[in-house]
Amino acid sequence: MTFENTKSPLVRAMTRDGTARIICADTTRIIDKACEICSPSNTAAAALGRVMTVTSIMGTMLKNSTDTVTVRFNGDGPCGEIISTADYNGDVRGYIQNPEADVPRKPNGKLDVGALIGQGSMSVVKDIGMKEPYVGISPIITGEIGDDLTQYLMTSEQTPSVVAVGVRVINDKDELHRTICSAGGGYILQLMPGASEDTIARIEKNVTSLSSISMMIENGRTPIEIIGMVLEGIEYDLFDTIDVYYKCSCTKERFRSGLRALGLNDMVNIEKNEKGDLETVCHFCGTKYTFTHAEMNEIIDELKDHYRKKLKDYRSRRKNDDKGSDGKEGKEENDT
Ligand code: ZN
Repeated sequence: MTFENTKSPLVRAMTRDGTARIICADTTRIIDKACEICSPSNTAAAALGRVMTVTSIMGTMLKNSTDTVTVRFNGDGPCGEIISTADYNGDVRGYIQNPEADVPRKPNGKLDVGALIGQGSMSVVKDIGMKEPYVGISPIITGEIGDDLTQYLMTSEQTPSVVAVGVRVINDKDELHRTICSAGGGYILQLMPGASEDTIARIEKNVTSLSSISMMIENGRTPIEIIGMVLEGIEYDLFDTIDVYYKCSCTKERFRSGLRALGLNDMVNIEKNEKGDLETVCHFCGTKYTFTHAEMNEIIDELKDHYRKKLKDYRSRRKNDDKGSDGKEGKEENDT
């Protein structure tokens, strides 16, 4: 499901000499949708929003329209795991294990995303249609997301990059009873082989003189204007502006497969103990899928048929083995 009201601008540009590219997005609406879905604390909203922003940008760097990228932070901090997946179009979804977890602000008043995430590892999984997806793992450096991605891109993809990402939130527990994202976004700038010292020095100078990305977005700066500031003094071309959305790939059929995967015993127990309809919720987008008792019994019947067939196969194999016809041992596969 694509949440149309989360339409957000993402802009791609490249220096005219082709040695640096930048992708910048204003993901305020997407992050606010995440806040609506999981009611996170202020710090959790910032952590999830930053991860979703870099994931969306990395999605637009994929090569084929069917590719996906998943960024996962596995820290030992109170928020637990953060997972975000984006497709080739930059459409993204995100999940944080403990959205209510929070930590005190830093002495300078900023949200302490690093403390909320803690230490551990982060991974990037690119599903590019091969049998095995590409997996890159890197230690969490500060847990502030931008630093971690910079390190990951350098060590795992050998690309020197500048990653800026930020989220500003307002706590509106009184009226809306949730955290609101007032501004969020980021950019990834990557240097290609052959970038001149002048270009690198100029970009460094520009980047250090800029205020934080979330502040710029809150002040109404567009991705095009932000790119202009990062690449000031360098000739560049704007490629395109694309709309990115909060999008989830869940379907009722997938939840049905999930129930089947629980196995016959669990499914029978669920059906027996559930008084009304069984309600399942997608933890990425909050969509609810209900299963009536008739639907639950349908799944149970399918599982019974499945086991009956397996038992029959097993018995016929045993019979053959007893005859010693092929000398092979009859092996029962584990059903999961
Ligand atoms: Zn979903």
